[in-house]
Amino acid sequence: MGEVAENIERIRERVEAAAHRSGRSPDSIRIMAVTKNQPRERVVEAYEAGMRLFGENRIGEAEEKYAGFHHDAELHMIGHLQRNKASRVVGLLRCVESIDKIETARAIDRRCRSERATMEIMIEVNTSGEETKSGYTSRDQMIRDLEEMTTLRGLKVVGLMTIAPFVDDPRAVRAAFASLRAERDLLSDRFPTIELRELSMGMTGDFEIAIEEGSTLVRIGTALFGRRDAP
Ligand SMILES: *Cc1c(COP(=O)(O)O)cnc(C)c1O
Repeated sequence: MGEVAENIERIRERVEAAAHRSGRSPDSIRIMAVTKNQPRERVVEAYEAGMRLFGENRIGEAEEKYAGFHHDAELHMIGHLQRNKASRVVGLLRCVESIDKIETARAIDRRCRSERATMEIMIEVNTSGEETKSGYTSRDQMIRDLEEMTTLRGLKVVGLMTIAPFVDDPRAVRAAFASLRAERDLLSDRFPTIELRELSMGMTGDFEIAIEEGSTLVRIGTALFGRRDAP
């Protein structure tokens, strides 16, 4: 077994253990391979080891690696997407997880409609209060934008995404994940017609806590591929 395959196996075991600890079915949690700054060979290796969900944080890099890749591989954008690049995601991605502005949503929607496609989106929430992080900081703004997003026919809002604070205190990390779940519950009450099935939260350093707090999608890079060279 190759190194990536072994790493995947180990992550699967830890996901299962965390799921069982919190009384959840492991099937309710998907593992994403975050392949930013990794060469295409590593993507292929992960695919061959059974991974089908992939994440990238830059559109140019995503195009280089994933154009013409296997049809059953599902690719998500997890980094900030500039509005002027929004049209490039259609046909390449299944989901943009990092929506934190209505303008980006509108731009993707326009392109989707002209191509008769639909794009899944998630709302990125800044749960850490760190100013360097993207994501909505104002709930009122998020609700106003979501009201419009639900009317955009080219888009399907499927859930929420967050990045926990980079701190040593696991309580602060847990609080961030719990607040994303609370946000989801609140929005589900407010928007009963949309099903917010996804809580995309948890990375290499904190995915077990995220699972205990209800994550449905953990985004793993370092633990699968080792440290990244580029920034
Ligand atoms: C890079 C990245 C990840 C993966 O981080 P690791 O700590 O390497 O697992 C997850 N989510 C986002 C948004 C990222 O940019």
